Amino acid sequence: MQNADLLVQHALVITQNERREVIEDGAVAVLGGRLAAVGPTTEIAAQFTARKIIDARGRALFPGLVNTHTHLFQAAVKGLGEDMGVEQWVQAVTFPTAVTMSPEEVYLLSLVSCLEILRSGATTVVDYMYPVKDPALHEAVIRAMLASGLRGRYSRMVNDTGEQAGILPQLIQPADEALAHAAELIERHHGAGNGRMEVGLSIGAVWGITESGLRATRRFADEHHAPITMHINESKFDNASTRERFGRATVPMLAHTGLLGPDLLAVHCVHMTDEDIALFARRDVKIAYNAVSNMYLGSGIPPIIKLAQAGLTISLGTDGAGSNNNQDMLETLKFSALLQKVAAEDASVVRAQTAVDWATRGGAKALALEAEIGSLETGKRADFFLVDPYTPKATPVHDPLATLVYSAGQANVVTTVVDGQVLLEDGVFRHLDEARILREAQKAAQSLAVRSGTERLLEKRARWRPA
Ligand SMILES: [Zn+2]
Repeated sequence: MQNADLLVQHALVITQNERREVIEDGAVAVLGGRLAAVGPTTEIAAQFTARKIIDARGRALFPGLVNTHTHLFQAAVKGLGEDMGVEQWVQAVTFPTAVTMSPEEVYLLSLVSCLEILRSGATTVVDYMYPVKDPALHEAVIRAMLASGLRGRYSRMVNDTGEQAGILPQLIQPADEALAHAAELIERHHGAGNGRMEVGLSIGAVWGITESGLRATRRFADEHHAPITMHINESKFDNASTRERFGRATVPMLAHTGLLGPDLLAVHCVHMTDEDIALFARRDVKIAYNAVSNMYLGSGIPPIIKLAQAGLTISLGTDGAGSNNNQDMLETLKFSALLQKVAAEDASVVRAQTAVDWATRGGAKALALEAEIGSLETGKRADFFLVDPYTPKATPVHDPLATLVYSAGQANVVTTVVDGQVLLEDGVFRHLDEARILREAQKAAQSLAVRSGTERLLEKRARWRPA
């Protein structure tokens, strides 16, 4: 008998491996944060003993979902400015919030986002923090990610222009300053949390960066092997402003400056021409599809089926809670499928299996982590969650994939494990005081709304008075 740290047995194991194998009475053995074995319970239980054994009878075991795009601090602005397009909304809601928040507020609100991400079955997240100048605010988000137990990538944003587009001067700094700070963050945090933390770069949008800023970001990314993520063609404003400033559309401009590459995670990609898609395909750019945010902000419908047919890797993101109002990856799974069905007027364009692939294998590949996460296979990281279907919303189950995409909610995600650590167990976080965090975050968000002026958006509306 071999010793394991954790044994989960008698589960319906959805491996999401190459052959999409499902093990009816399956088990996983976890050792040192990795999957030491995946197989039928009879085999695994005969081979391993463990200090901790979870009996998962009647439950399904899925590989952790990968949320490839969010802004964790935006939990602060849930329910503020929900009827605005993206350019108006960032100016009225998120920019004033970002330049007002304190490190403690950022920590608490980011932690709320992380807890919901874990409760919705996601085990990896890509954060995209606004380019605030106080290093303590960046540290606060990273602290929250590490404390939550999530696997994740923190992206330091480069934003060296954009006052003409309404970006506050406090959120603009020379590219070399932003990149010097990125180098410090990489030095300090890359590989932290037993390798859970990665540090990369981000660009807010093409209307917040100069041509030299784009080139400097690409140079830094190549030198430091730091991946880049960028909002691209979220609204029509991207192409309009790039044409005016540079005389060409956004994606050709990015190609011209060398920004496109397999390490670029392109977020939204709503307004894409066939030429844009071909340029992406040539450089193997990765896609973060944020269906809920695109609907919430009225941005449009990204041509995901076309992008997938061009051979591009599709992954799913919630986007920040400000343009979604939650961080629920299960809701995102559902909307991601539904929005494409609406666009195509064809229910068969996205199967439940495809949506689950986007959220697992696609997410892993988008982050170049396909050797580590995205499926339940021996040797990979032990990132997974258990679904108990016995709620009215999810019962009865026939096809577990269809249940996950269309019926399940956070109440069904009973246990979430990241890097072999059981973070959520039978619906309770074992490592953090969730109730206390939520109450303190509520107070922080209300104080922040008053100080940043966003509370004015609530004129003549009901205000929440916490008990
Ligand atoms: Zn975003």
